[in-house]
Amino acid sequence: MNFEKNIQDIIPSMEKWRQKIHSKPEIAYEEFETSEFIAEKLKEFDIEVHKGIGGTGVVGVLKGNRKSNKAIGLRADMDALPMSEKTNLKYSSKNPGKMHACGHDGHVTMLLGAAYNLSRKKNFSGTVYLIFQPAEEGGKAGAKAMINDGLFDNFKMDSVWGIHNWPGLELGKAVIHDEFAMAGGDLFEINVIGKGGHAAQPQHSNDPVVAIGFIITALQTILSRKIDPFSNAVLSITKVNAGTAFNVIPEKAYIGGTLRSTNDKERNYLLKKIEEISKNTAISHNCETEFKITPGYPPTINDKHCAEQVRKIFKKTFGEHTVDMEHSATMGSEDFSYMLKKRPGAYVWLGCGEKSEKLHSPYYDFNDKLLPIGAKYWTNLVENLMP
Ligand SMILES: [Zn+2]
Ligand SMILES: [Zn+2]
Repeated sequence: MNFEKNIQDIIPSMEKWRQKIHSKPEIAYEEFETSEFIAEKLKEFDIEVHKGIGGTGVVGVLKGNRKSNKAIGLRADMDALPMSEKTNLKYSSKNPGKMHACGHDGHVTMLLGAAYNLSRKKNFSGTVYLIFQPAEEGGKAGAKAMINDGLFDNFKMDSVWGIHNWPGLELGKAVIHDEFAMAGGDLFEINVIGKGGHAAQPQHSNDPVVAIGFIITALQTILSRKIDPFSNAVLSITKVNAGTAFNVIPEKAYIGGTLRSTNDKERNYLLKKIEEISKNTAISHNCETEFKITPGYPPTINDKHCAEQVRKIFKKTFGEHTVDMEHSATMGSEDFSYMLKKRPGAYVWLGCGEKSEKLHSPYYDFNDKLLPIGAKYWTNLVENLMP
């Protein structure tokens, strides 16, 4: 693949940066060294830097050489995972129990490579915001933290764009979904309160154990009976707890689980249904319910027009056959969804090779061959969206 001179020149540096970040992984909201390194590099490229947004978040502001009110945001996540690395690479994690197993070290570096190239050429109109966010992993919602800290109020942008490297997909190929790209994931908990008593005299009790048995079965009918068969959602009950003795009917029983959904409308409907069915089933057993939802990341929904735009730009940059239209969406979650709820944009999966270890594997390592491809993609996205 051919790269323009700035990118070609910076490939060895990008590899060094990526491996340096890889060797010093930092987890959610502790990305102190990583964000400092990013800020230093941006300053080196004469890019205006804003630090400490949503914790350790960094925003670089770069103006093109042509005036315009247009502005876009490019986002990279910076955090690592709380797990031990087993790659035995010479640059493997020096921080025990922490690892860049999702390739966010590569995401940071691709955006830094693009920042370098864009800052040399400035061949665009308007403003680019380079967003480096903390805490994507583990439900810690760094994107939301940056938004709550004024990301979109202080940096006015029309659209926002994200990348994730994708193992199993050919190197440099892209998948850009129309609308639904990744699922929303919520946790729910149901306490069923009955009346305890002697196991030999059930007539004096309201048994919450029998009630949760019916509730578990009833909840499994929601997806099969209450939503369009062409819809995708997952409802898994993963925690059940009740009782302490063989001869005592307990006072309370507990169910916990997760709901994965693909759009907000269905998500809200399903959560309401889970509450309603568990409450009414419990009532039929003379029990009461307490219902609690812990909201996870919302579904990641691309703007259809933005998805089309980015596919066109990708094909123009890398060739007609570089956009994979076959890959279906996934029920995994991603907190870029919070940004896409505030601004239109699209989330791109960028292939890092069929042989790559899977994300979150202790043997995973970001494929450095993707670095110049990512930098080139970001550059061309900016130059095409803001000519
Ligand atoms: Zn991850
Ligand atoms: Zn990730």
